[in-house]
Amino acid sequence: MASKRQIDVGGVKIGGGAPVAVQSMTKTETADYEATMRQIHAVAEAGGDLVRCAVPRDKDVEALRRIVLESPIPVIADIHFNYTLALKAIDAGAHCVRLNPGNIGGPDKVAQVADKAKAAGVPMRIGVNSGSLPKHLHELERENSVEALVRAAVEFVELMESLDFQDFKVSIKSTSVPNTIASNRLLAERIDYPLHLGITEAGTKWSGSLKSAVGLGALLADGIGDTIRISLSTFHAEEEVKVAWEVLKALKLRQRGPELIACPTCGRLQFDMDTVVAEIEQRLEGYEEPIEVAVLGCAVNGIGEASHADFGITGAKNEGLIFAHGKPLRKVPQDRLVDELFVEIDRSLERGRTEFEAGKAAEGAAWLERIEEENADELTPERIAKLEAEAARGDSAGGPDGNGATELPQAVEKAPLDESVSPTEGRRFTRA
Ligand code: SF4
Repeated sequence: MASKRQIDVGGVKIGGGAPVAVQSMTKTETADYEATMRQIHAVAEAGGDLVRCAVPRDKDVEALRRIVLESPIPVIADIHFNYTLALKAIDAGAHCVRLNPGNIGGPDKVAQVADKAKAAGVPMRIGVNSGSLPKHLHELERENSVEALVRAAVEFVELMESLDFQDFKVSIKSTSVPNTIASNRLLAERIDYPLHLGITEAGTKWSGSLKSAVGLGALLADGIGDTIRISLSTFHAEEEVKVAWEVLKALKLRQRGPELIACPTCGRLQFDMDTVVAEIEQRLEGYEEPIEVAVLGCAVNGIGEASHADFGITGAKNEGLIFAHGKPLRKVPQDRLVDELFVEIDRSLERGRTEFEAGKAAEGAAWLERIEEENADELTPERIAKLEAEAARGDSAGGPDGNGATELPQAVEKAPLDESVSPTEGRRFTRA
């Protein structure tokens, strides 16, 4: 259940139906102003809406004072154990303070921070970590760790409410993906404050991204979660932001920049797809437009399932085809495929539309048709998927024999090629 309440962190709305905000945490010593600012800029350029900085010492507060003034995105001060640092961070202009009410020295200390935050109009994030639950919940933790996490979070919420402070978001962090999912689902039923999601100590860029995508993705798909942080063991905080965006883009919750789709490849692959896909992905990072680019490892299936892409390439042995909006644009030599793809993308962005040249488009269509014809009997992964989908549809309709049975045809019907390759205006793009 999505949170009903909304807070405002330095102009970024969290909860209450606002877009899910992306945040990361700097990995520098906050006291190192130059290094911290460099990382904050990297986070902001990658699309971070918010950034958090650790504030464990007075010298970090001093740097924070300058950082909040110069940062292009709101800054959250991350405080543990020392409530006076929270008070100082608010004085320094932090846009939000994150603290764990369980480790800050008792309710009277929490009350002092809440009073100051309220007076300054600074929201807070109150968080529970699986490794640091209050003592009175340790027995429950052994019996039911999910209930213990939720109980701790709800107790903190009640504490803040008893202090007449409601300007906060809540996080439950666990290293366990199932516990993160279960506890946040339960918490979302019990409170209506915005939720910060993350898998704590998720791991390396590879495993941590996957764990986070599974855990956060399951919750976000249910409408739970208002801001996310992907925790990765990398010094490059912007990598966390990129992963967060991929999660949000995959769920169609937010849109940012291009989307690359690529076939998984198989034995019909006709060119060095690994290198080509990596190069296209890297070059697309320079674009802000929401273009969808498809890479198909062979032309056996025609444009097929990539027909919705704005641009795409597919290759045979020595030559390849650039297509756009489901239609061939032109044939190019294999070694020019990527460069010419970007020529077409740039040209289209510049003109605001994709222009098809009739002669080249017809030549490309004929090439594609020949390859499809030559391979009409190939059972490619795409054709098998299509046949299975058709069979499933037949099953759900009771099947052609009325008994729910649908046989896969022996011969594969060639997919019809769209013949309308005459000059066509493509989708218009607006520059962000
Ligand atoms: S048959 Fe499909 S998966 Fe195999 S290379 Fe061609 S497009 Fe890729």
